[in-house]
Amino acid sequence: MNIACIAHDEKKKDLVQFMMAYESVLTGHSLFATGTTGTRIKEATGLNPHLFRSGPLGGDQQIGAMIAENKMDLVLFFKDPLSAQPHEPDINALSRLCDVYSVPIATNMATAEVLIHGLSRGDLNWRELVNGEKRLIEDES
Ligand code: PGA
Repeated sequence: MNIACIAHDEKKKDLVQFMMAYESVLTGHSLFATGTTGTRIKEATGLNPHLFRSGPLGGDQQIGAMIAENKMDLVLFFKDPLSAQPHEPDINALSRLCDVYSVPIATNMATAEVLIHGLSRGDLNWRELVNGEKRLIEDES
């Protein structure tokens, strides 16, 4: 599965701890992340997400583009509900595209826990049927 990881600044620590806790589950999947979030994940875990641009510089839109092509199977987007974000339109667009394509999205740790257990149990395997083949972007490192 292709999994997107994004966290606003106040939530990056939470997401990194989440990724550490579920590293054994996540290691079998292709990870994609906005720049700063992905760098933090790389530093703290053995995971190697493909890095897009930082969110405010277009990273959310790059992930949104993958969703629009139905190439993203799960989105972990730990949002900070207490701070205004300069790229709010990009965040809303990403979230909307998840609804357009029925892509599961967790915007907080509690929902992420449920989805990750579902992922490891095979509850999201229907995504493979939707998309047919395994999809990896060409320049994944
Ligand atoms: P960042 O972007 O990982 O580059 O900080 C996250 C965001 O969309 O705010």
